[in-house]
Amino acid sequence: MSRFATRILAAQGEMSAAGIDALCLSVGSDLPYLTGYRAMELERMTMFVLHAEGDGTIVVPTLEAPRIDAEGIPISVMAWEEDEDPITIVDRLLGDATNVMMGDETWARFLIDLQRVGRGRLFVKASGLMANLRMVKAPDEIALLRDAAATVDGVVEQISELRFSGFTERELARDITERTLAGGHDTMDFWIVASGPNGASPHHEPGDRVIQHGDAVVVDFGGHQGGYASDTTRMFVVAEPPDGFDVAFDVLLAAQRAAVDHVRPGVTAESVDAVARSIIADGGYGDLFVHRTGHGIGLDGHEHPYLIAGNDMILREGMAFSIEPGIYTPGHWGMRIEDIVAVTSDGVERLNTAPRLYRTVA
Ligand code: ZN
Ligand code: ZN
Ligand code: ZN
Repeated sequence: MSRFATRILAAQGEMSAAGIDALCLSVGSDLPYLTGYRAMELERMTMFVLHAEGDGTIVVPTLEAPRIDAEGIPISVMAWEEDEDPITIVDRLLGDATNVMMGDETWARFLIDLQRVGRGRLFVKASGLMANLRMVKAPDEIALLRDAAATVDGVVEQISELRFSGFTERELARDITERTLAGGHDTMDFWIVASGPNGASPHHEPGDRVIQHGDAVVVDFGGHQGGYASDTTRMFVVAEPPDGFDVAFDVLLAAQRAAVDHVRPGVTAESVDAVARSIIADGGYGDLFVHRTGHGIGLDGHEHPYLIAGNDMILREGMAFSIEPGIYTPGHWGMRIEDIVAVTSDGVERLNTAPRLYRTVA
């Protein structure tokens, strides 16, 4: 059985157990997870309709139907012509389904139209079901995440040899993008180069600031390779670290290492966050760690599970997520170290293996 057929059966099993009659998926990564097909984000509606039993149907604009490869997957393709109304088609396919799960990223206008025609039908978010399935990766998925991580690790090594001072953040970001694509990524999704005081803004957009002697530089970037995402952060220091940086960096390094070492099946997501946070707080920087410790990663760059206080989800073998504590001193510098890790049968595997000490560059 193909991996997609297996996943569709697993989804149907969970639907039956939860009393869900049908599942509808459109744009986003849930549909390619189940079928291998990613819908174009267009005004023309694509909707996959799957009942708790039987084959699924992808309702798709005629001009996109050739992109679907249904070989070995229990789905049929229903192409709609330009003069047809896909809402009517989906409504008919849903039939007497009452409890329907709708993919979270579906455009609101499609859902609103379906609600208008589907008298008495109850729509709920599909994320509960889909996140459960997608969170636990199969070995082939972990292998793809490992490959994507190896590419960005290679770029980290390459840029460690570069001169930073005298170039703008934007120039360095462009260079990183080119190297990541040359290294095997299909897409580049984001690139943060945050120098000096800009580093204190965790999601800083690279700009025209010229990198200077004495800057700490946060470099955080990622993209997609073979369908799976990468995401890593490493620190660079131009010639010499700014005041207070080294002491804080030792604390951050210890926090990141302890959080990774804490990961194993059976511990909660929030306990990983707590480990990193307590070390940073003990170091005196508790107020300066302003975000959660990590996010899941897979087909999407950010997905479940989230490592944050309040998430008591139990970690299981096959889950993959970032561990990325940071310390940010507004007006001065910021620092973050980020690795993707995978939960193994008895512990953890770091998928990013580039050294975590900051690199001194010219
Ligand atoms: Zn982030
Ligand atoms: Zn990142
Ligand atoms: Zn991240």
